[in-house]
Amino acid sequence: MIPFDDALKAVLAAATRMEAVRHPLEDAVGLVLAEDATSDVDMPPFRKSAMDGFAVIAADLATPPATLSIVEEIPAGAVPTKAIEPGQCARIMTGAPVPEGADAVVRVEDTEPGAGPGDVIIRKAVAKDANICFRAEDVARGDVVLRAGGVIRALDVPTLAACGCAEVPAFRRPTVAVLSTGNEVVPVGRVPRAGQIRDANAPYLAARLRQLGIEGRLLGIARDTPAALRRALREGLESDVLVVSGGVSAGDFDLVPAVLGKLGVEVLFDSVAMQPGRPTLFGRREGCLVFGLPGNPVSVLVAAELLVVPALKAMIGYADPNPPRRRARLLEATRHRPGRVAHVPGVLSQMPDGWAVRPLPYHGSAHVHALAGANCLIRLPAEAAELEAGASLEVVELDVRG
Ligand code: AMP
Ligand code: MG
Repeated sequence: MIPFDDALKAVLAAATRMEAVRHPLEDAVGLVLAEDATSDVDMPPFRKSAMDGFAVIAADLATPPATLSIVEEIPAGAVPTKAIEPGQCARIMTGAPVPEGADAVVRVEDTEPGAGPGDVIIRKAVAKDANICFRAEDVARGDVVLRAGGVIRALDVPTLAACGCAEVPAFRRPTVAVLSTGNEVVPVGRVPRAGQIRDANAPYLAARLRQLGIEGRLLGIARDTPAALRRALREGLESDVLVVSGGVSAGDFDLVPAVLGKLGVEVLFDSVAMQPGRPTLFGRREGCLVFGLPGNPVSVLVAAELLVVPALKAMIGYADPNPPRRRARLLEATRHRPGRVAHVPGVLSQMPDGWAVRPLPYHGSAHVHALAGANCLIRLPAEAAELEAGASLEVVELDVRG
């Protein structure tokens, strides 16, 4: 049995970053940029109008109202053909280039038609440069808009698009196979018969992978026979990562470790001083990392959050793949069996005097519904049996996005 921290270290040491490839921009959210992204254009690309109105010479409006003659209309997408002289203006739309000679734009709301067909009355004075966006005032051609190593967010996509990054150099997402095992486990669409239980693990793992932008390869449910496991595990080993749940403990039908061994998987650890999740197995074969998680759904969730997700983040290229931790004050006394670090579901909240955490009612690793209201896992140290209210503890924040 190895300490939890050593298990995480071993996982992160084995989880090497994937190669950089070019991804379509729409598919890049959640990936890590492999090179600095630069702009191939100035932004704005030219001196342009920020309003629908009239391009004018500000000095012409020193004593409003003033009547100006309209020399042309410049819709967005057009190029002005005339320079503006004193007494003149151009009708201009938002996003259109401001003509030579003009040094301000008056909003259409501050004007009214003049007496002649080509005239406009401007009712207000306007400051020089008003309602004009200047070329390259946001970004100059060649500027770095996003640094290598950053996670690409949806927020970054419009900038990357405007800068011409139709394809983004980013580290590849690993392919991840997901396998449930157990004679008693039935697909979620089935009503379990006597002795059966629905597969809670594969749907969870698939959903969690999606939060990381990974479409899991779902291999279904293997029966607890060497032949069925061999067939399914062999297929799973074709992926960059294989996550199998169930069948790794010490029971008569826990055949996964033996079958993995026969398939050439080198086991790096098969027992971790954590509760739940003790029989968690981690191994590798050629290009594939293998996680064998004990079948109870809370064990799967805890081991996935604390070991599998960090591995995936490291492979995607996150600068810090570790589970997001913070310290919080325990709001209720809690006890646990010492010897292994325990992770129990809790609710973390920010109080006026700092972060605080409340443990949720929890009956053990099959009590998956305990997680329904949780937003963190509370880490109860291996050495402490009783924890007083007020104790400062480490918690692992769970990803609570939709
Ligand atoms: P095992 O690790 O195979 O010994 O399974 C431990 C417990 O988890 C047993 O009660 C199993 O019925 C249950 N279990 C195993 N796999 C799943 C699954 N995919 N979904 C829900 N419960 C499971
Ligand atoms: Mg089983």
